[in-house]
Amino acid sequence: MLKLGGKVIRIEVAGGATEVPKGDRTLVVISTNPRLPRSLRERSAYLVRAGVTEIPSGFGHYLQIGEAAKIDFGELENWQRVTSLSDDFSYLEDGDIIRLNSARGEIRVLYRKSSPHNTIMVTEQCQHYCLMCSQPPKEVDDSWLLDEANELIRIMPRGTGELGFSGGEPTLFGERFLETLRLTKALHPGTSIHILSNGRLFADRRFAADYAQIRHPDMMVGIPIYSDDPATHDYVVQAKGAFDETLRGILNLKEFGQKVECKRPAVPPGSREVSVL
Ligand code: SF4
Repeated sequence: MLKLGGKVIRIEVAGGATEVPKGDRTLVVISTNPRLPRSLRERSAYLVRAGVTEIPSGFGHYLQIGEAAKIDFGELENWQRVTSLSDDFSYLEDGDIIRLNSARGEIRVLYRKSSPHNTIMVTEQCQHYCLMCSQPPKEVDDSWLLDEANELIRIMPRGTGELGFSGGEPTLFGERFLETLRLTKALHPGTSIHILSNGRLFADRRFAADYAQIRHPDMMVGIPIYSDDPATHDYVVQAKGAFDETLRGILNLKEFGQKVECKRPAVPPGSREVSVL
């Protein structure tokens, strides 16, 4: 399994500065192109593998993977940062997008250009508390994740085939989430969108209508339903009235001509029942 996040080995600053600048989270696009136009370099991290000798100047970041890759700091300007990563991240390639958190010494891989299944988690908040949830909801203000999603969408390579949005419950951001969908459509008109949602916010007809107004030609909401018995569904998601609200959400979406994928995840192991409505 690919390791998508963790600690970096070390962060160094060219010019002998002893302290790594404390920055917030930074998104960078990985580049292996030494001839990348100057205007794009500041937002990019140049990836140095073992054997690479040419170190172009002007990149916002430099990454070296594995102990064998050694950047000659003499080639860099004094403020530039070099982040060393373990071999676990040797799969990274040109066009991938990562988040670097220099204050915490952490990396998170957010987008892989070669993957057909990139999904952006926009929040850890959710109004369910499902029995089997792998990342139980947190009541925290994590709206920075949605800001980061917007930033990611702006720098994501054109031609991405499919993009998913998940949580938590992405629709909890309401209009702000719809704005993210509009942005995705504007910048990546050919990209299919899949939204994993519990569907409850769509019970609000106004919200469902605004969603439909985006008029995306290839956008679908995936909604899990755990049972046709309302009490069982509500028990699984630990939320009274959830079944009714989810069903009203689905009916609204269908009334407005939207694509909905209904999932019943708790079926015999290894299989997955899906109906596209
Ligand atoms: S709806 Fe999804 S994120 Fe929310 S509690 Fe259930 S499994 Fe977790």
